Parts: sequence; C-alpha cells; structure tokens
Amino acid sequence: MPSTPEFQQTVGKVAGFTGTALHTGEKVTLRLHPAPVDHGIKFKRKDLQDEPTIDAKIENLKTVERSTTIGEGSVRVHTVEHVLAALSAMGVDNAIVEMDANEPPIGDGSAQPYVDLIKKAGVTPQEESRKFFDVREPMHVEAKTGALLVLLPDDKFRISCTQAGPNNQFTQFLSLELTPLIFECEIAPARTFVYYEDVEPLMDKNLIKGGSLENAIVVRGEAVLSKEPLRFSDEFVRHKILDIIGDLALVGRRIRGHVVAVKPGHAANAELARALAREQTRRSAMSAPRAIPIGDSGLDTGEVMKILPHRYPFLMVDRVIGFESENKITAVKSVTINEPFFQGHLPGVMQVEAMAQVASILLFKLTKTSSRVGYFMSADQVKFRKPVFPGDTIFIHAELTRARGNRMAKTKCYCVVNDAVVSEGELMFTFLDK
Ligand SMILES: [Zn+2]
Repeated sequence: MPSTPEFQQTVGKVAGFTGTALHTGEKVTLRLHPAPVDHGIKFKRKDLQDEPTIDAKIENLKTVERSTTIGEGSVRVHTVEHVLAALSAMGVDNAIVEMDANEPPIGDGSAQPYVDLIKKAGVTPQEESRKFFDVREPMHVEAKTGALLVLLPDDKFRISCTQAGPNNQFTQFLSLELTPLIFECEIAPARTFVYYEDVEPLMDKNLIKGGSLENAIVVRGEAVLSKEPLRFSDEFVRHKILDIIGDLALVGRRIRGHVVAVKPGHAANAELARALAREQTRRSAMSAPRAIPIGDSGLDTGEVMKILPHRYPFLMVDRVIGFESENKITAVKSVTINEPFFQGHLPGVMQVEAMAQVASILLFKLTKTSSRVGYFMSADQVKFRKPVFPGDTIFIHAELTRARGNRMAKTKCYCVVNDAVVSEGELMFTFLDK
C-alpha cells in the first residue's frame, strides 16, 4: 500500500456553465462550490423551495435506466454520472454541485465540459486525509444483461473494460490506470453512444427533448452517426469506463483496486457500488470498538429500565452516556444479530423507536419534579440515510428544540453509526398527568 498520505480536495472557487438538459431540453446552469472536509459531493436544487441537497451516495440511488438518478424524499437529480466521474477522477472529494433544474447540462455527451469547469474552478488540497476503499479480496457482480464486473486487489485504481454491442458488434477493449491526466486525455472526451432502436421510442414520446447528434453518437445498424467524427476509434469502451467511474463515485471513497468489466451498464455498476458500500459498513462495524465514555451523569441499563417501561426485545437503549445541558442527551445501543425483526438490517421503525425512547428519558429528567409525563405522539421529517447492520453501535442523540407551554415538546433526534448519521427525525411529545 502507498504510504504517502493523500489529502482531500475541493474546488478553489465557484465556477459554472449553462447548457441544455437532456430530458427536458431546457436551459440549466450548473455551478461548483467549494465544500469542507468530509462533506463529499452533494447536489443542490436551487430551483426548488428551500434548495434541498442530495448526497451523491449509493443509498440515494433511485434508478439506473439509461442514466443514473439519485434522490432523497421526492427530490430527484438525473444523469449524474458524467459530472460525478469528472469530479472523482480529477480528484475533487468535496463540492456542492448547484443546479437550477433536475439534471446537469448534457454538454457534448462526454465529461469534457465538467473537466473544463473543474480546471476553471481549480482544485485545492484540504487538511484532512482521504478515505479509501482498499480491495482486499476479489468481489464480483453479474447482471441479467450479461454484464460482469470483477474487482481485484491493486494498489492503484485501474479499469480494464470490454464493451460489446448487439451481436458483438463494436467489440472494444481498453485497460488503464486512472489518474487525473489520463482521465482528462483518454476518457473525458468520450461521448455517450446510443442504439437507434433504443432511442427511437423515447424520441417518439418526446422524452429526450434535449437529445441530438451534438450530444450523442447514434448507432444504427452498421452506421455510426454523429455531428463530429469519432474522437477515438474505440470511443465506446472509453465512454463505458467513464460511466463506471461516475457510478462507482457513489461509494464516497476512493477505490484502490482493479475493476475488470465485461459489457458493463449502469445497473451492474450500481450493484458493484452497493456491494462496496456494504463491505465498507461491515469493515467499519468490525473495527475496534471505541471506548464509550460514561459521564457522571450517565445512566446504566438498570437505571434506564427504571424510567422506560420497555423490556427486551423492545428496549432500544443500552445506556445513557450523558446529558449535555438540560436539553441534550446521548445514549447508546449495540445492535446484535439476535435483534428482532431483522431482515439483514435494523428496520427503520426500530430506529425511530430508539429515538423516541431516548427522547422520553430526556423529557422524564425535565419533568421529574412535576406531575406530568411525556408521551410520544408523532414523528416528522424522518430520514433513513444508511442501513444499520448487526455489530453496529448506534449513538442516539436527542435535543429538546421546542416546548410549547407545558403541553407539547418537540425533539430533534439522530442515530449515528461510525460518525455518520444513519437516521434522523423530529419527534413530538405531549405531556399528560401521571
Ligand atoms: Zn454515460
């Protein structure tokens, strides 16, 4: 393994460009903004109320038909793979991709406009080391489409790709190590290619209003149609590599490994990204357990059980680590394989239950001297961001954000595993007489 530390990077300044959205055909402006360490890449919908952001993470993957769509709640961002490929390959770890539409400008169908944009914005190092995913043993995914992706240990990020069209037409092979320079020269200019039979129904339904021979190469039978001639004799396999880089960027870590891809597509790429994210979660869970501090103000299991009526398997609090001021509490729960209702991961409803129990303890402390007791009433703005697996230790944080008279209380709660928020929600409580 290379021992020189690598630092996270962001863009040096805000930079943007305007172009056409592929699906709607409308004008869209995309702007890159710098972001702090460990922020990752987030898309911001400036055209929507409250300007929601979406994490470019595999958990937010929604669809992989023809292009890659991510979303949170009802908010979507389409066709993210080319801008993600450029950011990842050019070494940008943290950035906000702000757009005033639901997809980036398609440009010429390659990653070239995004590379130009990143160079315009500049890339600057930050004061935190990069996070890697080191491939330790071979992994693979296969799809019904015939796609096969194998990931092998390597101390560099390499991709070896075989692309083949219908009847093995346009079979092309390319293998390279990914560096910013190689990406810029060999991969970024490669344009999207589509088969005429695939796009004809979409054109008929007017679903690709922005599509033209200026932003895609169209293959019809033996013929290759495009506004400008092929940029490489093997442009197709180069674009396949571009899509692999973009889809694997959703892992959120730099990969040290060798991707061997045969007839890859977005679905198979996403499947591999998911497998990597799962493996990363497993590794984090197995890393040495952190020392859990027990403040003087903490509560052990016995004391928790004096407050909460719940018993195993419904007790979702192992112990309270401490109270911070009057309004904040942190508790901990270790998730074991014996947990009930397990289907590979801890159901979201149990995480909400954990938040409710911890918030109840906080309210109990607050109303200890009164004759009232807080009852969990409703949950709002609940988001499940990451799966929770056996072996995970959940840190549950609850904060009293509002108390309306002595009737109602609102709490903001988070479940955190390995320093990442896995779920959150606003929980409302009502006070009743004991
Ligand atoms: Zn593509």
